[in-house]
Amino acid sequence: MEHIVEAIESGASGDDLAQLPIPHEYRAAHVLKSEQDMWVGVASADKDPRRSLHVGPVPTPQLAPDEAVVAVMASSINFNTVWSSIFEPVSTFGPLARLGRESEWARRHDQPYQVVGSDAAGVVLRVGAAVRNWSPGDRVTVHCNYVDDQDQTSHDDSMMANNQRIWGYETNFGGLADLTVVKVNQLLPKPAHLTWEEAAVNALCNSTSYRMLVSRNGAAMKQGDVVLIWGATGGIGAYATQYVLNGGGIPVCVVSSADKAEILRTMGVEAVIDRRAADYRFWKDEHTHDESEWRRFGKDIRDLVGEDPDIVFEHPGRSTFAASMYVGKRGATVVSCAATSGFMLEFDNRYFWMRLKRLIGSHFANYKEAWEANRLIAKGMIHPVLSQIFSLEQTGEAAYQVHHNLHEGKIGVLCLAATEGLGVTDHELRDKLGDNLHRFRR
Ligand code: NAP
Repeated sequence: MEHIVEAIESGASGDDLAQLPIPHEYRAAHVLKSEQDMWVGVASADKDPRRSLHVGPVPTPQLAPDEAVVAVMASSINFNTVWSSIFEPVSTFGPLARLGRESEWARRHDQPYQVVGSDAAGVVLRVGAAVRNWSPGDRVTVHCNYVDDQDQTSHDDSMMANNQRIWGYETNFGGLADLTVVKVNQLLPKPAHLTWEEAAVNALCNSTSYRMLVSRNGAAMKQGDVVLIWGATGGIGAYATQYVLNGGGIPVCVVSSADKAEILRTMGVEAVIDRRAADYRFWKDEHTHDESEWRRFGKDIRDLVGEDPDIVFEHPGRSTFAASMYVGKRGATVVSCAATSGFMLEFDNRYFWMRLKRLIGSHFANYKEAWEANRLIAKGMIHPVLSQIFSLEQTGEAAYQVHHNLHEGKIGVLCLAATEGLGVTDHELRDKLGDNLHRFRR
């Protein structure tokens, strides 16, 4: 791989990069099908990604006509890599086998290993014969919506496609690696003012939050909306907070420490709730809700902003969902993309129908939404929330940190980039944005 890295770092032309031989195998973080049952009977919290995520050589897949080979300079940890590594809620080898049955090209994905990771920033090395808009040498980030554009269901909102998948989670050849092979309709131009690792952390979480809050497909937030954001310094929450501030909304941010609350204050958030200090107990025990705690939470929100939320940005799931459905004002929208603490959700329907609320399920973003979200990063209007940087060899440790909520914002992973700080071409915009780019850095 050294010849590729040297060529990229010395600014080789696209034509020169296209001539470089691509190795037959490459270094990648992967899980093994032979280990998919290793955690049977083990509690979720005790499943350790450091044991199930391996870093080593895997064969380079053949390139399909609508794909590109990308040299990955940096990637990031998303919660879906935690799910893959603890084989919850299901092992991802089932979805890979189903994908493998779809076509000749899709069969490549069904392997005894899965290269994980759903973010990447890097340089295009090769494009397939059917590719028009991208060429070797293009500096790109990769979004994770993997769409079969020959399926009619993908042609309105591609997230509605029957066989829509998340790259590096429900497909093979993910981004936590030195190379990746992706469909070219996953490519986005790399924001020029960012380092490789800053560019690599945005696409998945930023696009998800864009769809949930800004897009017509989500809550379509308007100026003045009060938006309750759970996990407001976490991966998706940290972008959600920026969208609310940018869009003239009023964020009410929930976090679990004074340090996280301080990050939010430096971003300009006034209403912050420390859930740990408040010690909300929405559940009396595993089966019994405590409605008085929903009311206490609602009162805390009113004390801060004078009214109830118009929108609730929900993802913790079982532990918070009933409270989220309760605290929204009449006509409020609860938009949910996940259920980290448990996906069997319960809520009191009286507060839903009598108060005419809406519940929207949201999942990643279509290409247009991901493009718009990336455009805002490129213009310096939304910023990466990079907190720490790990090497590819340390992927297991990085995933462990996310699994145990020991991080803020996003964890970046250096793949081919030898050190942090490389890849910037627009220094003027970078200088102008100053501290905005470093608020989450430890
Ligand atoms: P993350 O970086 O771990 O952040 C999640 C935050 O949620 C944590 O920082 C934590 O903040 C808060 N949280 C965790 N458990 C909680 C609980 N029981 N009650 C209240 N708050 C809790 O993860 P992320 O990247 O933001 O992802 C969050 C979830 O969304 C994950 O389940 C992920 O798989 C999912 N997701 C879905 C999509 C999609 O397309 N459907 C896309 C991205 C992410 P505090 O401790 O500070 O409160």
